[in-house]
Amino acid sequence: MTSVIETDVLIIGAGPAGLMAANELQKRDVDYLCLEKRTGPSELSKALGIQARTLEMFELLGVHQSFLRRGYPGPGSKLHLGGENPSLVELYHIESRYPYLLIIPQSETEKILEEHLSALGGEVSRKHEVVEVIEADRGVYVNAMHDGELKKYFAKYLLACDGAHSKVRQDLDVTFEGEDEGYTFFLGDVDVPSLNEIYINMHLNDRGAVAFFPYKDGSYRVVGLDRAKQGLPHKDELTLDELQESLNTILSEPYQVKNPKWLSYFGTAHRQVPNYRKGRVFFIGDAAHIHNPIGGQGMNLGLEDAANLGWKLDAVLKGHANDSFLDSYHFERSPIGMDVLKETARMLKIIDLQGAQGKVRNWTGKAALTQDWVQKKIAHHLSHIYNEYEDTSRNKELLDSSLSKEAIQSGKRVPDHLLFFDGTNDKSVYPLIRRHGYICFIYIDAQDDALINHAYTFSRMARENYPDLLKIFLVAKGGTVLTKGKELPIIYDVHRHLEKKLGMEKGSTLLIRPDGHVAFHAMSSEPEQTMTKLKRFLS
Ligand SMILES: Cc1cc2nc3c(=O)[nH]c(=O)nc-3n(C[C@H](O)[C@H](O)[C@H](O)COP(=O)(O)OP(=O)(O)OC[C@H]3O[C@@H](n4cnc5c(N)ncnc54)[C@H](O)[C@@H]3O)c2cc1C
Repeated sequence: MTSVIETDVLIIGAGPAGLMAANELQKRDVDYLCLEKRTGPSELSKALGIQARTLEMFELLGVHQSFLRRGYPGPGSKLHLGGENPSLVELYHIESRYPYLLIIPQSETEKILEEHLSALGGEVSRKHEVVEVIEADRGVYVNAMHDGELKKYFAKYLLACDGAHSKVRQDLDVTFEGEDEGYTFFLGDVDVPSLNEIYINMHLNDRGAVAFFPYKDGSYRVVGLDRAKQGLPHKDELTLDELQESLNTILSEPYQVKNPKWLSYFGTAHRQVPNYRKGRVFFIGDAAHIHNPIGGQGMNLGLEDAANLGWKLDAVLKGHANDSFLDSYHFERSPIGMDVLKETARMLKIIDLQGAQGKVRNWTGKAALTQDWVQKKIAHHLSHIYNEYEDTSRNKELLDSSLSKEAIQSGKRVPDHLLFFDGTNDKSVYPLIRRHGYICFIYIDAQDDALINHAYTFSRMARENYPDLLKIFLVAKGGTVLTKGKELPIIYDVHRHLEKKLGMEKGSTLLIRPDGHVAFHAMSSEPEQTMTKLKRFLS
């Protein structure tokens, strides 16, 4: 009889979402296995844009440098909406250390994530095709075929990262609600000798839409919609001649395309699972949501899903949090997925406007894009840095109304470019989160014995209840701070970033989650109250 291989977490699929999940778990020494049917990472360029918030997540994982080295910082888009001059959407407006769209083919993204996983000591079990998934009370049974042999697994939790046609979703009878959009896009990775661009170039008119994305090696991703070729029987194969024909139809100036590396037609749909969690199974990435490629957001959503769930699973498996803590994955991520679904479906309808309506769209677009604030809004929205979680009921329960209106509160993203002085050097907050996970700042302002005692008492209680979970820092504005103990490092808010950008004030305690969002921010004079908040956060 085949023995059952047991693990805490089983990840199905090693696309971008599964690889990110594996990295998140490996970093935290969680017991997991990752099963993938393919023999190696995808060779297809597919998703080519990494948004700022995803780069922040990569920074927290420690893999950002490889991406920055191998990618291309796309500064924004030129929109050709008729008339002589294109309108610009500049991404330098994004308030992040990564104010651009990092252009890198998905094949590279998968390679980098797998290399990082391997450097951390992890691996993907390749050539393992999952053929059956069965839910049980305290976990999930999975059968997989490997080299003609059936292997059986049991895991406490299963992460379905198996893409748009998810086998896990099918076996568990989970619906994928939404609809096909009925459009056919063309796609080519080609050379365009007459183009020399650093911006994404987009053309929109009554004949269709085309976007040219510059790759680092000087070639281009050309993707678009030829109105003359809609409604035909579906096919995947696109020839270079057909691509050229569509470009000649849509564009008023000739762009010769050459040396194709990948050519394809693809259709679009918007669909999402009703709940990102079903019992012990979590849906991540395209297994949870699909939508059209406008704005280059699909893969980013999946990578950010994995970053949201990884540390939560770790907290539960290490006994710091209850199983119900994992429900927040659905409540935090699903509204963001739904928002992208609605937005991309709406954008496609706008792109499809023709005749008088198309003229109004182009005229309004051109007028709006002369305004800096409009560009800023679009840039921020696409960058995903505004994907925050403050509206979930769990995060609302943790709000502290006694804090100032400006104070950052539960669920909000902590900005990534905050500086403090550690007594010797200026340091920034994200590397602290990367190193320690949960960061707790207690703002003592200056020497204040009562607050220092509070911090030490809270630190002792936190250690007793959650050994090694939090890293607590005392934050002073300046001056000499003397403490009896040495365990709590003192940092100085000399740039006033914690005060001005996070709304911290004397006596406030800020707990930051390992994914760079706020767990809670509280004003309290009693360590017991802060402890109660911590327990509620992890419940
Ligand atoms: C033409 C095209 C262009 C795109 N452009 C963009 C873009 O510009 N920006 C963007 O953000 N997104 C884009 N996307 C979407 C992006 O490619 C997906 O969102 C992304 O691949 C989803 O990652 P994932 O890990 O969730 O799923 P996938 O990449 O689909 O990975 C799923 C993995 O699961 C494995 N698997 C499936 N079933 C099993 C099984 N039974 N057993 C074991 N393993 C299994 C598969 O082999 C695969 O490796 C594009 C997609 C396409 C097709």
